Amino acid sequence: MTETTVTPGSQSALRRANERRIVEVLRRDGTCTQAELARATGLSAASVSNIVRDLRASGTVAVRNTSSNGRRARAVTLLRPPGAVVAVDFTADRVGVAIGDGDGNMLASERIDYDVAADAERGIRRAAWLIETTLMRFRIDMGTVSLVVVSVPGPVDPGTGEVGHISCVPRWAGFRPAKALTERLGLEVVAENDANLAVLAEQHRGAGVGAEHVVHLALSEGVGAGIMMSGRLFRGAGGTAGEIGHIALDPRGQVCRCGNRGCLETFVGANYLLDMLPQNTGVAGGSGPVRVSDMVAAALEGDPGSRRIIAEAGAALGQGAAIMANLFNPDRVIVGGELAEAGELLLDPMLRAMELGSLESALERLDVVPSELGRDAALYGALRMAAQHVG
Ligand SMILES: [Zn+2]
Repeated sequence: MTETTVTPGSQSALRRANERRIVEVLRRDGTCTQAELARATGLSAASVSNIVRDLRASGTVAVRNTSSNGRRARAVTLLRPPGAVVAVDFTADRVGVAIGDGDGNMLASERIDYDVAADAERGIRRAAWLIETTLMRFRIDMGTVSLVVVSVPGPVDPGTGEVGHISCVPRWAGFRPAKALTERLGLEVVAENDANLAVLAEQHRGAGVGAEHVVHLALSEGVGAGIMMSGRLFRGAGGTAGEIGHIALDPRGQVCRCGNRGCLETFVGANYLLDMLPQNTGVAGGSGPVRVSDMVAAALEGDPGSRRIIAEAGAALGQGAAIMANLFNPDRVIVGGELAEAGELLLDPMLRAMELGSLESALERLDVVPSELGRDAALYGALRMAAQHVG
């Protein structure tokens, strides 16, 4: 192939195509001199030189002086896949940002504490600032970012991009985070539910590797489930699929924030569990606010009250997971979130309840395992989704 005359409007498209050809040769053959690149791609020496200069400026290749057949030459080495994607992870009280290369490998990440739940618009402003400063710190040009994927701790309507009404960020209800961030940054942005992104990441590089039908249960204030069937995300008609936290377990139980009674969330949600701890408990040294991580630590050290609460949460989770097992017949169920750090204290009672509540055939090929990616799962999933969209 040779360079051809093109209309001005398609110059940048042609340039991108030529850049891709050079990157492909470097991927295939490893380090090449500029003369070898020109021969392999059919591009002129001047074009190769220009493109290599840009690739070097964006950190995609390294260039060093060498000699070839006794003549001075410039050797070009691919450092990372070209292009960049951005992941944003909103939780109720934090904003995280990760920059990935064109294949979705994480290059850099930053997290800050921020009251995300208080105001959606301000949360977006904070995220835009964090994206800009992170890109600047790692000298990545905003112009190389092809897509931003935003993780939201609530259901996201796949059609409208609106955040649903029942989530741990109720003030975000009806808000469109992707649209708001696009307006600030001028980049293409996609918003996705955090549990969906977590299951995507775990299946790609974590506890779900090798499984085809995966359910990821994320335990925090509520319980979210990300569902992958035959390797694809299952979102439902309006993004509500997997709201396992609102499976009704006890018609006489506590009233849930969704308005129903005895939802799974009222048995395993962080605030409900902490409320069950006895007064003047020794957990967290008896002073300061007690968090789920304190309770888990106390349970692992043998505190009987904490162990009891976690065991009962495990049993309730197993009841919910049994329903999922019968409905979806997954080959892997992954349990993540702070409470999952309790390990078998949570998983053993969960498995017993699943055995009681599921068909034997639904459990035959099912492994229940703890999450491997932990709190970074949604960020990794957002990078993965961004890279897949681009590729
Ligand atoms: Zn509920």
